[in-house]
Amino acid sequence: MEELKKCPFCGGDVKAVTYDDDGFLRVLDSDDIEEDTAPCFIHCYNCDMEYFPCDDRCADVISAWNKRAGD
Ligand SMILES: [Zn+2]
Repeated sequence: MEELKKCPFCGGDVKAVTYDDDGFLRVLDSDDIEEDTAPCFIHCYNCDMEYFPCDDRCADVISAWNKRAGD
């Protein structure tokens, strides 16, 4: 699994997450991401930033995030 870059707003750790059936945030593990089991977006646990790119696949969401957060 591709490493996620830090949040560009606060420098905090971000995770690839989804909402579970009860509406709670759930961190996706690398199997979820590889198998693309759920709609994926990026959440910063420090400042609550959320990033919803238009890409559908988890892997694409992650690479879009890393491009955006880069440098
Ligand atoms: Zn942040």
